[in-house]
Amino acid sequence: MSSETEKSGPIEYGFETRAVHAGAQPDPVTGARATPIYQTTSYVFDDTEHAADLFNLSRFGFLYSRLGNPTVSVLEERVANLEDGRAGLAAASGHAAQFLTFFTLLEPGDEFIASRNLYGGSVTQFGLSFKRLGWTCHFVDPADPENFREALTPKTKAIFLEVLANPGGIVVDLEPVVEIAGEAGIPVIVDNTMASPYLCQPIRWGADIVIHSTTKYLSGHGNSMGGVIVESGKFDWLQGGRFPGMTEPDPAYHGLTFYETFGDFGFTTKARAVALRDFGPTMAPLNAFLTITGIETLALRMDRHVSNAQTVAGFLEAHPAVDWVSYAGLASSPYRDLAAKYLPNGPGATFTFGLKGGFDAGVKMVEACELFSHLANIGDTRSLIIHPASTTHRQLTEEQQIAAGAGPDVIRLSIGIENADDILRDLDQALSAA
Ligand SMILES: *Cc1c(COP(=O)(O)O)cnc(C)c1O
Repeated sequence: MSSETEKSGPIEYGFETRAVHAGAQPDPVTGARATPIYQTTSYVFDDTEHAADLFNLSRFGFLYSRLGNPTVSVLEERVANLEDGRAGLAAASGHAAQFLTFFTLLEPGDEFIASRNLYGGSVTQFGLSFKRLGWTCHFVDPADPENFREALTPKTKAIFLEVLANPGGIVVDLEPVVEIAGEAGIPVIVDNTMASPYLCQPIRWGADIVIHSTTKYLSGHGNSMGGVIVESGKFDWLQGGRFPGMTEPDPAYHGLTFYETFGDFGFTTKARAVALRDFGPTMAPLNAFLTITGIETLALRMDRHVSNAQTVAGFLEAHPAVDWVSYAGLASSPYRDLAAKYLPNGPGATFTFGLKGGFDAGVKMVEACELFSHLANIGDTRSLIIHPASTTHRQLTEEQQIAAGAGPDVIRLSIGIENADDILRDLDQALSAA
């Protein structure tokens, strides 16, 4: 017998199959094949002992939809599966997922290090609002991974980055950062929103926690807000006594210790049983349903998003009105090799380019678009365009805009899954108008 046929255990389904099936099964009562929307706030207890066990976390089950819902839990399992993680927790938005993660990790006075190439909303959340909770974020240039090591202090509890960074075109070398964090005994958290698990699986490269704004490519149709936290299950929370919230008895649960009791899913259990319970940014069952449905076509959509983006980037690079294009799929990109390593299925579909005509040309171009929608989102089936300097980044000085990759000449595109010729035609006429 060959070693191949001797192998036992469950079949390892491919990504596309798991995107359709993971976490879901026909409804045991009705036989419904699609995951139903369990539009209920609460669940009947068998008896008082059953209720007590649920409240004590000594038994799994549903009791109140702030803490868990059958539709939402299918989504949690599906994203955890696609990310190669151990367990997941959904939240009302990507930002809510980030808050729940850091509330579970940090004590007042703690610090973390973040790549400075992040979604703008994350920079504001970390730099301003988190500051008021006593958490300090140090931003570093991720181009040199050693910058993360240099920013370490005894109070550093995590490193946060986007491998494929919003607004796009930048790829961060994850492996050396994982090594630096490992030596320091702290987890690496990756915001994988821009790539989706189809293009990049950070846990395979050693990341400990993955976060998504499911609002973008996972739901994929611009119709539902959401966030998910996935834990790898591989981080040792005991080392160095750095994470008392994970390793010391919790007074609200009769002295239960999350890491000791729940082991490789202790982090998401604590995030649910404490942070989600006490702050309440729960994902609605309808949004979970729409996101589950979106994920079923993730691989198909991402392939089309990427091939359209590659076509558009090449077209723009050759266009006389365009100064530069920052897309990691172009031969001219300094991130091409990192993209080939971490994003073998393609470097996403959200990127920026610069107009020779500067600010005024940017304003004219977005207004001249007909097929592209002028709005502040990414990861929709529809192609989207925004001129950050006149919209999302208009409060900043020109110097700050340039540092954030949102200078006066910058246009950000999120390329949809429409016919590529139609997309090029719309950009061409809008560039002529500008
Ligand atoms: C949109 C986005 C977020 C925030 O997610 P919301 O669902 O809008 O709260 C975080 N990170 C990245 C990379 C994003 O694109």
